[in-house]
Amino acid sequence: MSQGADPFMPDVAGEMGYVCIGCGGRYDIYEFIYTCPECGSLLKIENAAFEDLKRRPASEWRNLFDSRRNSTTLEIQGVFRFHELILPIVPLKDVIYLGEGNTPLVRANRELSQWVGAPFFVKNDGLNPSASFKDRGMASAISFLNHVIRVRGLTDVLGICASTGDTSAAAALYLSYLPKDKVRAVVLLPKGKVTPQQLSQPLGSGAKVIEMPGVFDDCMRVVEELAQNYHVFLLNSKNPVRILGQKSYAYETAQQLGWDTKGLAVVVPIGNAGNITAVMDGFIDLLELGIIEELPLILGVQSEHADPIARWRSSGVFKPVKVRPSVAQAAMIGDPVSFPKVKLNVERYFSDKFLVVSVSENEIMEGMLTANRHGHVVCTQGGESVAGLKKALETGLVPPGLTYVVDSTSHHLKFASFQERYFADDFDPAYGIQTREDLKNAPVTLDGKAATIASFLGLRRKT
Ligand SMILES: *Cc1c(COP(=O)(O)O)cnc(C)c1O
Ligand SMILES: [Zn+2]
Repeated sequence: MSQGADPFMPDVAGEMGYVCIGCGGRYDIYEFIYTCPECGSLLKIENAAFEDLKRRPASEWRNLFDSRRNSTTLEIQGVFRFHELILPIVPLKDVIYLGEGNTPLVRANRELSQWVGAPFFVKNDGLNPSASFKDRGMASAISFLNHVIRVRGLTDVLGICASTGDTSAAAALYLSYLPKDKVRAVVLLPKGKVTPQQLSQPLGSGAKVIEMPGVFDDCMRVVEELAQNYHVFLLNSKNPVRILGQKSYAYETAQQLGWDTKGLAVVVPIGNAGNITAVMDGFIDLLELGIIEELPLILGVQSEHADPIARWRSSGVFKPVKVRPSVAQAAMIGDPVSFPKVKLNVERYFSDKFLVVSVSENEIMEGMLTANRHGHVVCTQGGESVAGLKKALETGLVPPGLTYVVDSTSHHLKFASFQERYFADDFDPAYGIQTREDLKNAPVTLDGKAATIASFLGLRRKT
């Protein structure tokens, strides 16, 4: 595996292709297809040479990934630290690294742990370049696209996605890095249903932004039709190349815990279910290679206003729901595209190690505001995760005494408008939010004199 001076540099290897999760049909990975041409089911990407990876002892894998943390090669500092498990067919020279991945685990302090009911960590995926976890999957998808453009000599590529805000921010950012004479970026958003910060991101990256009526599910249907009938490169997580990069969340979490996943529980908010699929896939890879000894418990969290997967888990029946307004707007999805993949992972691997809890809009806001009053910068979806862990501990859904890692999927600042509405008590009644006085905050205006400020704060004068 050595190459030149750096013994930790990955080689190009593997044989990757699409496999249909419905009929098992196999397709060339260089085709831009997103569902099975035969039966219409979702596609997964398989590395036909994955078995070869098992020949390397687990301790060597751990050493390799640990050593790469000190590498000066930029392209393996992000999600491609796990090149062999993500996209080994793409050489490092085609990898687009914009600083994604490698996000910190932050320990909850004592007060916050008491409030939630157990000590826990927040893995802060808001510290990605476009401030959400979507950058992980965009790094793999755009690196792949960059690779295909080079080897197939493509020009006039149109990258497109539907979005609740963060996919479009990430897609526009990564696409903007590619040559303008070969690639155009287009994003489709539900008008009025992304935050001002999220709207500013693709505009700033120079993408064509199309707003349309409806919610995310409506945008998704349009983009699916475009991907079916026209030459476009789909950047939603329905494109399994996105899932590959998003698996890095699981690899990093295991690595940050010294590869010890015994008694681990990972808490993930669910929208379109791409992220939770990727997190499960990532832990499955590590288990298959012997790098970890057991799978963690996965706790999915949904808002009561968009909870089809929570309903499936409690009733055994999956049915899309019509969403109601949710502050966890990035996860406000009634018909999650990746549900069949979640189901498959649960049936094949996780069984009773996959749980889902639903939380109220009030609980989400209180989760976010309380976490952020104790040293965090979690978004509403991160608040949803915190609230979900609290509720699952209270109701006994998850056992006490585990190591809990909560996914804050984006940065607080992207969702500041929900905090503003909370403080101003200004929510549309459809959210069903009652603001709590003790969680409100507002600036005060004073005259700018030290004496006035000292008096306002009740300061004691030095003698
Ligand atoms: C996209 C997104 C989610 C939901 O992830 P899915 O893969 O759609 O389940 C949650 N939180 C944030 C901040 C997101 O951007
Ligand atoms: Zn098929």
